[in-house]
This record gives sequence, C-alpha cells and structure tokens, in this order.
Amino acid sequence: MPSTRLQEVYSNLVANNPGEKEFHQAAKEILESLEPVIKERPEYTDRALLDRIVEPERQIMFRVPWMDDKGEYHVNRGYRVEFSSVLGPYKGGLRFHPSVNLGIIKFLGFEQIFKNSLTGLAIGGGKGGSNFDPKGKSDDEIMRFCQSFMTELQRHIGENVDVPAGDIGVGGREIGYLYGQYKRIRNSFDAGVLTGKGLNWGGSLVRTEATGYGLVYFAEEMLKDAGTSFDGKTVVVSGAGNVATYAIEKAEKLGAKVVTASDSSGYVYDPEGIDVELLKQIKEVERGRINEYADRRSSATFVANGSIWDVKCDVALPCATQNELDGDAAATLVKNGTKFVAEGANMPCSPEAIKTFSQAGIHYAPGKASNAGGVATSGLEMEQNASRSHWSFEQADERLHSIMVGIHDTAVATAEEFGFPGNYMVGANIAGFVKVADSMIDMGVI
Ligand code: GLU
Repeated sequence: MPSTRLQEVYSNLVANNPGEKEFHQAAKEILESLEPVIKERPEYTDRALLDRIVEPERQIMFRVPWMDDKGEYHVNRGYRVEFSSVLGPYKGGLRFHPSVNLGIIKFLGFEQIFKNSLTGLAIGGGKGGSNFDPKGKSDDEIMRFCQSFMTELQRHIGENVDVPAGDIGVGGREIGYLYGQYKRIRNSFDAGVLTGKGLNWGGSLVRTEATGYGLVYFAEEMLKDAGTSFDGKTVVVSGAGNVATYAIEKAEKLGAKVVTASDSSGYVYDPEGIDVELLKQIKEVERGRINEYADRRSSATFVANGSIWDVKCDVALPCATQNELDGDAAATLVKNGTKFVAEGANMPCSPEAIKTFSQAGIHYAPGKASNAGGVATSGLEMEQNASRSHWSFEQADERLHSIMVGIHDTAVATAEEFGFPGNYMVGANIAGFVKVADSMIDMGVI
C-alpha cells in the first residue's frame, strides 16, 4: 500500500478499532486494491472520503436475554452495524455463532458495502448477529432467542431503512421466528423488512439456492474465460450449510464431481461424488453432523483431523467461514494442480493464501464478487415485496444468472482498465468502490 493517504487511513482504522483483526484484514485488502484508482482520480482522497467510508454510519449493540428449556437464564450480545446507506437501505445478513464479536460484524458489514454495490441493485451495506450458539438448541430455545433478539432489533430496521437476512446460523427457521416477532410488535405486515422469508409469506423462489448457485454461475464464467468448463472437473467444496449445499448441487448439475463437504467436526471424502439429497437430509432436515453422511454412504469416508485442502482437485470452493484456507493450504492446492478458487464464504482465504494463488497463476474469485448471488436474490425478494408480486423459479434464476455474469464481466473489465488483467480481486474491489465513492461525492460530506 505505497500511497501515504491509503496508509494513513489504514493506520487510523487500526488505532480506532483495536483488536478487530478481521476488520483490519478486510479493510487492508480493499484499500490496497484502490491504489491504481486513487492515482488516476485523486478526488477520492478529498473531503476525508476514505476515512468516512471505513467508519460505519451507526453501530448498535444490545442485550439479548433468553430462557432455555430447563428454565435457566442466559444473556447474549446482539449487534447490527449499519455501515453504508449511500446506495440504498442497509442490507446484509445476521450471523448467530459463538465467534461473533464487533470486529467480525464490522468486517462482514464492510465487505457487504462493495458486494452489494457490485450487484447493481439499490442496496447499502450492513451486518448483524449475535454470539449465540444455535448448536444443540431446541426449536423452542431458538424461537425464544429470536423473539428476544427482534424485540430490540425491530426499532432499528425497516423496509426502507435496514433489511436483515440470514448468514451462518440463521436460515429459514430463524427468519420465520424473527419475522413473526417483528410483525407482532409493529402490527404491520412489512414483508420487505427481512429477506429469506418463507414462500407462503413473501419469500422469493431461488433465495435458498442463490448463494451456492450464484457462486457456480460466477465460477462457470471464470472457467469459460480460461477456455474450459465444470464438465468432468473434480471439485472440493468446504462447508455443509446453505452455501455449500447448493454450490454442490449446481456444480454437479454442470457435470463436475464434487468429492467433499465439511462441518466443524471434520470433512467427508466421497470419490463417487457427494449425494446432495443425503447431505440435505442430514444437515438441513435432521440438523446432524457430517460424519453421519459417511455412516450412511459406503463410498464415503469421514476425516476428523486433517485439512480438506489436502484433497486433490481442479476447482476449490471454500464455503465454510473466514480464514479457513491459509497460506499452507494454498501451497498444497498449488502443488496438487488446482487451477481455480472461488469463494462462497466471506473472506475464507487468508491474505497469504491469496498471495500464493496470484504467484502461482491460479484464477481466484473473491467472495464479494462470487458469493454476491445471495444478497442479490434478497434484492430481488425486496423488488417482489414492493410490487406485491411473486416470480417463477425460472424468472428469479434467470435474473440471478444475469447478475452473476454481470459481476464477472465488470470485475474483468475493471481489472483490465486499471492494468491488472485477470485479477478478479482488484477488479471487484475497484468496481464496487467507485459506485459507492461517486455517490458519496454527489451527496456531500455525510
Ligand atoms: N449473508 C449473505 C451475505 O453474506 C446474504 C445477505 C443478505 O441476503 O442480505 O451476503
């Protein structure tokens, strides 16, 4: 980051947000990519624009008390970071996971600004969640937690203000409980206040599949640019949640053989190709652990201790969580001949891993471009809610597909324009930034 202005912004950010290492990491990656655009357009350093863009418009933290099934009481912390509303209402998911803290929510919210900008839809950036651990909780416990969480969150959100959705630990069940409590308190059926809703009450077809499908649509374009396709490729997918499941489904549909899936207990290796219906049954329906997949499928083995990135593949799709793929794992992928990496999770590859990919000439797609299909389809859900309409699966899928192709083409063209041909990260970061920055300039010092 040789520009002194960019360096200054970064060191102020580190000083002002002590200990928030994931936020530092996400901000550093973007600021570094901005070097060529700042050089060409120095107006982006005027009127403290960069200092404003890294400072959330609003950060909300609140107490979430709840009672478990034994009648014991617990307190968690709730968060909503409303980062940028320059392009539209704050938009981004809620994450329920014990690792959640302010720094994690800020990193996710910051990424979301540029991701949402890339979709071309009118959505700002935000993120929220709680350090609540949904693992092992009953439906009633989840419901009581969601109701308590929404009792506070409802005063901060609205269909033109802030529109939360799901992320890790928050799926259709949680969105249902959250929406029910919102509706009850506000006495208003504001369907557009949350996305990822059930299909009977304002949800959009394809929203469930969107992040995984969108990831594969993006990767398909990358493969096409390199003169190849998913057909016959061996693919390693990490994770077994919503993103991983539908990435596996779509990659297999396009002729790939996906040989892995994982959760926090380990990974399964299935040389016959993952049976996605069995995976859904275990993870979505039964909310079980990944080893059960190997218990029920003779071609699969469960590996408890070991790195999923040791499995040889042509294409790697990290779909679990941040920093799951480090420099050593990247070196192993390079050694094993992997040619493509596209991120389904948010920031799954560490900075060292990204450096290794670029040195080895691996085609690498950053999450803010390749996983934007989830939030893009949330934007489509908002469109349907606003017009009180309901699109067919094909209609929504077609819009998703064209948005992903659009993001791919924009990233490629922008990287080329600024002298980094083939660098999806630089292209996506600059393209996402320019739209936000230009809009901020239009609106004055806000
Ligand atoms: N949590 C998803 C993301 O990381 C989706 C957010 C949304 O649909 O608002 O982009």
